[in-house]
Amino acid sequence: MIDLGRFHIYSATLTQRAGRWTVSLTGVATELHQVERSRSNRHPVPVGVDRGIISLCVAADADGIPFESFEGVTTLKQALTKLKSANQALARTTPGSKGRQRARARLATRHRKVANTRRHLVHQASKALVDRCQVLVIEDLNVAGMVRNKHLARSISDAAMGELSRQLIYKATWHGVEVRVANRFFPSSKMCSGCGEVKSDLDLSTRTYSCGACGLVIDRDLNAAINLARWQPKEPSPSILLDPRRAELLSTA
Ligand SMILES: [Zn+2]
Repeated sequence: MIDLGRFHIYSATLTQRAGRWTVSLTGVATELHQVERSRSNRHPVPVGVDRGIISLCVAADADGIPFESFEGVTTLKQALTKLKSANQALARTTPGSKGRQRARARLATRHRKVANTRRHLVHQASKALVDRCQVLVIEDLNVAGMVRNKHLARSISDAAMGELSRQLIYKATWHGVEVRVANRFFPSSKMCSGCGEVKSDLDLSTRTYSCGACGLVIDRDLNAAINLARWQPKEPSPSILLDPRRAELLSTA
C-alpha cells in the first residue's frame, strides 16, 4: 500500500521491550477496494462466535452447522507453562549474579512469546471470520467475572476472546461486516439449542451439554455458538455496536 501511495505515514515510534526493538507506524490508509469490502461469497446468515475452552473460539450458524473451530488454547497453555518455569528459575538465582541476568533475559523472551502467540492466533481467527461471514454475533463479555476466574484454560480463552472481539469489531468496519453484541445476560451457554430450555447451572468442567427436557447432547461451545447465531437484537443499532469506544470496553488483553 505504501508503494502504491495508498498509505501515508505520519509518524514512526521506536520502542524497546525485553531487548527487542519495534517500530510502530501511524498513518492514513485509503478505503479498501470495493470488491474487497463486499465479497459476495460470505456466509449469508448470522454466525455466532463463542469462546471455546479447548479451542480459541467456536463458530456456528443458527442451523447448527459448525462454521469453524479455531485451535490455539493448547499452544497458549504450553507457552504459559514455559513462562512459569522461567519465573521459577529466576527465583532460584542469586541476586546480582550472571545467572540471574541470564534468567531474567529468558523470562522476558517467554513473556514476549506468550504475547506474540496470542496475538498471532487471534489475528488469524478474526481475519478468517470477517472474510467469510456477513453477520457475526458475539457475547458481551463480563470483564469483572473473567478476572475472578481461576480455571486456567478458561481464563486464557476469556482473554483471547476479549482481544478477538476487539479485532472483529475493527476488521468488520473495514470490510462492511456487521457485528452484533448479545446482551451479557443472554444465557448462550445454559440454554438448549434444541428446545430453548435454560439450565439453572452449568459447571465449567462440563464439556458436553445434555438437555434434560429434550434429550439433546451437544458440544458445550457449539451449543453456545448456535444460540448466539440465533440471538436477535431488540433494537438494531449497528452504529453503536461499531463505536470504537465500545471496542475498548470489550478489550481485555
Ligand atoms: Zn433441549
